[in-house]
Amino acid sequence: MHLIPEPKSAAVRSLLNEPSEARMFIDGAWVAASNGATISSADPATGKIISMIPDATASDVDDAVASARVAQQGWAATVPAERARILWKIADLIEANIDELSELEALDQGKPLYVARWAEIPGAVAQFRFFAGQAMAIEGKTISTSINYQPAGKEVEAWTLREPVGVVAAIVPWNSPIILATLKLAPALAAGCAVVLKPAELTSLSAIRLGELIAEAGLPNGVLNIVTGRGQQAGALLAAHPDVDKVAFTGSTATGRAVLDASKGNLKRVSLELGGKSPVILMPDADLEHAIPGAANAIFFNGGQVCVAGSRAYVHSSIYDRVAEGLAAYANGMALGHGLNAETQMGPLVSVQHAERVGSFIASAKSEGASIIAGGERLGPVGTFVSPTVIADVDANMEIVREEVFGPVLAIQKFDDVEEVIASANDSVYGLAAGIWTDSLSSAHRISRRIKAGTVWINSHSMYDASLPIGGMKQSGYGRDSGIEALDNYLETKTVCAIV
Ligand code: NAD
Repeated sequence: MHLIPEPKSAAVRSLLNEPSEARMFIDGAWVAASNGATISSADPATGKIISMIPDATASDVDDAVASARVAQQGWAATVPAERARILWKIADLIEANIDELSELEALDQGKPLYVARWAEIPGAVAQFRFFAGQAMAIEGKTISTSINYQPAGKEVEAWTLREPVGVVAAIVPWNSPIILATLKLAPALAAGCAVVLKPAELTSLSAIRLGELIAEAGLPNGVLNIVTGRGQQAGALLAAHPDVDKVAFTGSTATGRAVLDASKGNLKRVSLELGGKSPVILMPDADLEHAIPGAANAIFFNGGQVCVAGSRAYVHSSIYDRVAEGLAAYANGMALGHGLNAETQMGPLVSVQHAERVGSFIASAKSEGASIIAGGERLGPVGTFVSPTVIADVDANMEIVREEVFGPVLAIQKFDDVEEVIASANDSVYGLAAGIWTDSLSSAHRISRRIKAGTVWINSHSMYDASLPIGGMKQSGYGRDSGIEALDNYLETKTVCAIV
């Protein structure tokens, strides 16, 4: 494993030397928790504490929501071109600070630098630019009705207005902090909503830095508030808060259910981006030169801590041996190291607790009779590294095939015919994403139509663009982030019907 190189950013260098005392952002001010409580945030590769972040109290949450409530009125009344200008400025500032933000993500979350530098942060820039444009393209409709009881000489006219939902609580997980926060912030701000963002307790530092850049871009005070702290406290309070109009949640299916329960009090709007157990199908005519590294990347990118990770591979029996061997060789050849190291292909998992959880899935697969054909070990000074793992001899009922592991663990199975593999791919409570590797146009089209998933990739995986909607079917949630559809999460339709 490689040593930690000197970060380019002075701010990130200083975190390595001495833990920072982070602040959260309420009503335009950077503040500690009202009772002074903090949570420690560690470098997952070494376990060293890099920051103490505020553990928001109920009164902090109330203050943030109250600030958003007041600020939202003014923001909604701001002309779209001004909202667009600020969103575009946010994108420019993220881009100008891309090295620092990438290093922050690599240190705090553990992700390899290239994941942040070339995929996630550019993705956040693109989202803010896309929704800057969308801010100026929000439109209602005029509708021809069949109402015919207007007084003589009068006419009926009807139209719709699109209005911001109001105050949005955006609650996001730890695996890709900036891009997942942006997927909520950019459309919500474009729509004229005010936001209270609750980043994950394990990875709040990049959200805090993003908040500084957003303030620098000129977003009025209170339109964005950031409360850091525990999900069970700050997150749960936001989900239940009577003055929050909508929760935009990304996280596990279990927490999504708790958020939905908590939201019932004021029937707030809820959109849920939840877990996945995405199948990757390798057809007999797949171009294996690309399909093997493609399937490996589908699971090992960001250490498998990706909602759409292709964690179940279904390989046609005619190519199974070659694919299994190729995947195992790919896994064994990956460079593990500190996220800040430019050569690192896979960093640590986000915490010791999470690595233990992933390790227990591997152990349980072994005890159920599966074979580990690559990896399977926990490594590193505090045991947060899990070697890229490929598991064969599994069957459809095993936990490793059914449950979301959220780590670098791939279960591979053989299939013989296309009906069988479609049934297997759909045999999951999740429906987030899927991949199909084939050179047959006809197979690609036919299979993609029959897979129950919010996204299907053909001869690729994890290809994103600000124009493309992302979201789940079944227990992977509902509502869509990204793309024009994301605006629907943050807009209400008002019908106006008039006799004129
Ligand atoms: P999590 O559900 O434990 O936490 C997500 C967020 O919810 C965190 O900010 C947490 O503090 C907060 N939270 C926890 N308990 C809460 C409660 N009772 N009420 C309100 N908020 C609460 O998820 P995680 O472990 O941080 O992230 C991993 C999960 O996220 C995986 O299941 C993964 O698939 C999912 N995910 C989904 C997508 C998607 O787009 N579908 C993207 C990324 C991650």
